[in-house]
Amino acid sequence: MDAAIVIGGGFYGCCLALYLRAGGHRVVIIEREDVLLGRASLVNQARVHHGYHYPRSFVTAVRSAANFPRFALDFRHAVISDFSKVYAIARENSKVNAGQFYQFCRKIGAPIEEAQKKYASLFEAGSVEGIFSVKEFAFDAVRLREALLRRLRKEGVEIRFRTSAERIFQTREGNLSVVLEGGGSVDGGIVFAAAYAQLNVLLRASGLPPLPMKHEVTEVALVRHAPPLSGMGITVMDGPFFSTMPFPSRQAHSFTHVRYTPQGNWDDTQTPADPTRVLRDSQRKTACPQMMRDAIRFIPALRNSVHIGSLYEIKTVLLQNEDNDGRPILFRNDYSGLRGFGVVMGGKIDNIYDILAALGGLRDGAKALAPSGENWISRLFRGNDEQ
Ligand SMILES: Cc1cc2nc3c(=O)[nH]c(=O)nc-3n(C[C@H](O)[C@H](O)[C@H](O)COP(=O)(O)OP(=O)(O)OC[C@H]3O[C@@H](n4cnc5c(N)ncnc54)[C@H](O)[C@@H]3O)c2cc1C
Repeated sequence: MDAAIVIGGGFYGCCLALYLRAGGHRVVIIEREDVLLGRASLVNQARVHHGYHYPRSFVTAVRSAANFPRFALDFRHAVISDFSKVYAIARENSKVNAGQFYQFCRKIGAPIEEAQKKYASLFEAGSVEGIFSVKEFAFDAVRLREALLRRLRKEGVEIRFRTSAERIFQTREGNLSVVLEGGGSVDGGIVFAAAYAQLNVLLRASGLPPLPMKHEVTEVALVRHAPPLSGMGITVMDGPFFSTMPFPSRQAHSFTHVRYTPQGNWDDTQTPADPTRVLRDSQRKTACPQMMRDAIRFIPALRNSVHIGSLYEIKTVLLQNEDNDGRPILFRNDYSGLRGFGVVMGGKIDNIYDILAALGGLRDGAKALAPSGENWISRLFRGNDEQ
């Protein structure tokens, strides 16, 4: 049987590879780093979204609320829930007020209640107009990586590390050929590109139209909080504010700020640039002191937090969501007329179910490409205690 090739061994590439393998395909992952989930799937806020973040994008919020319990169960060994999560609404400059936020959460079915006094007393009087306790978890990307790697090995998926896909073309016989940097190629009947920030580099090199994307150079600061903040996650909404979440893979907290986390951005359709190069050449100068200074106006106890390092990564979003912050999936099949070539971007980790639902309808000739859809991953991981 023809090989199915997945370009990119992030969370999406690994899940896609398992999916295709379950359909009986011989599967090869091409990953240019020397680990799986070493890029955006590792360097992020580690939030398992439940919808709270998206008052301006109802569809994303509803999908998050639907996917949250499934992700928390399917990947339970990599999900951390033993912390208290609080969302607060800033009194000034917020795009949503406390009443609207509360109603919105009720509408999407995400649990919300007024926070207890012990949490409310952490905030500077008058800085916020509502403080809510919610149900939001964090994921440990290293544990996710370990679980996926074990599973990929068990299923016999071939992984080629330190191998970079340069371009893709359709052969005269109708096969797809992935040309590798430094020479050689891998051929197959199905190719999925799950290269996240690098998708357009790959598409352009293949002579294919780029996707409407925007990239940001981002800093995820890692901090150690003192109690009680060490047992909490806090997000202040909805505008130029901040968030701190447990970051389990480093046993620390992430610290991000809407104003200071992005350290530069570009519209890839207007000024195309290779994200890897931009990241490599970026200054990587921490803005954590500025983030902290601003956040201390809301939570004075953050004065006791210590910045222990920062991670930098490119964040990629679809141009259509620049203003509403929505995170829909991007999934294109037979991209630009190349039969068998799929392009995938999840936007956030829990969107995996929406991608799998979209894939569920795909066919390889007369045959379904793989087991139908979104429930498949639950079957694969649930009850798998070696995870
Ligand atoms: C700062 C930041 C914060 C975020 N916060 C959250 C959050 O809290 N919750 C959430 O759910 N999501 C969050 N996200 C989004 C989330 O990280 C991504 O949606 C998700 O990780 C994308 O997974 P992926 O597999 O598509 O990408 P990646 O994990 O980046 O995987 C792509 C892989 O492709 C490889 N690759 C690229 N080009 C090639 C090539 N030519 N040949 C071979 N291999 C190649 C890369 O090395 C990489 O391993 C955040 C993202 C960022 C950057």
